[in-house]
Parts: sequence; structure tokens; C-alpha cells
Amino acid sequence: MHCPFCGEADTKVIDSRLVAEGDQVRRRRECLSCHERFTTFETAELVMPRVVKQDGTRQPFDEEKLRAGLMKALEKRPVSIESIEAALNRIKYRLRATGEREVKSMQLGEEVMTELRQLDKVAYVRFASVYRSFQDINEFKEEIERLSQGNGDAADVARALAENPTGKGKV
Ligand SMILES: [Zn+2]
Repeated sequence: MHCPFCGEADTKVIDSRLVAEGDQVRRRRECLSCHERFTTFETAELVMPRVVKQDGTRQPFDEEKLRAGLMKALEKRPVSIESIEAALNRIKYRLRATGEREVKSMQLGEEVMTELRQLDKVAYVRFASVYRSFQDINEFKEEIERLSQGNGDAADVARALAENPTGKGKV
């Protein structure tokens, strides 16, 4: 790999470790010429199914968009980047495991909610209130009540809901 600082063709790997629960390799490299150090991340590239939107249009799976959606829901929440990357990898794994060439955007949204429910209740409520809109508002209310029962997160969950009381918009 070329040095991003001086363009030297040869760089040396000085450290290599598994990250994101083993789905990624982080490598520390040093340029043999200018001795600058930099980091690279390596992941396996596998074919993802295409996403069928509700209006029937097809789009290529967009990992950046999915990551941005997770990040937005988890904004200012105590969840590490590592955990977010691991969640992202689990979603991708499950989508590939379907063996389908196309998946519905709704299925993708459900996968995101499954992960957010585990990661952070506030983020889950934020995402669900936007994603589910008014398609099943009663079910959503029940979910909020269930999440709020008997734990210290109730106030946080209520605040997250207040941030987005109308449930307008789409992720
Ligand atoms: Zn260099």
C-alpha cells in the first residue's frame, strides 16, 4: 500500500489486530521512506442484496446510509463506535444469510430496530418513532410503555420521544 504522506510504494505493517468482533482487521503501517505512520481497516467485501423500497424502486445496499442512520439514532448516547460497527456487521450478516438477491426496505428497518433495542433504548425509541411513523402507532405506544416499565431509563425514553413527537420523516 502506498504511503499517503509521501507516495512511497512500500509501507511496513507494524501492528495488526482484529476489531469489530473479528469482522475487521486494523493495521498500523509505517512508511519505509518518510517514517510516517497510519492506520488501515480491512473488511471482507461480500455481495449484499439490493433494497426494494416501498414504492417498488430498487437501490443498491448503502452501508454508509445505514451507518449514518445508526449514528443519528445514537447521537450523544453512551455507545462506542466499536459496538455500532459490530451491530452494522450483524445486520449485514443477517441480510446476506437470507440468500435473497433483494430485501424489502422494511426488513432492513426491522433489523436496525432489533440492534438498537439491544444497544440503547433511547436510540431505539428515536429510530422507531421516525421509522414506523403512523403505520402502527398503538403498537408503538405499547412498546414505549413496555420499555419504560420498572427501570431508570423511563425519563430518557420519554425525552427521546418528546424530541420526535410526531413521528414524521423517514430514515
Ligand atoms: Zn512516506
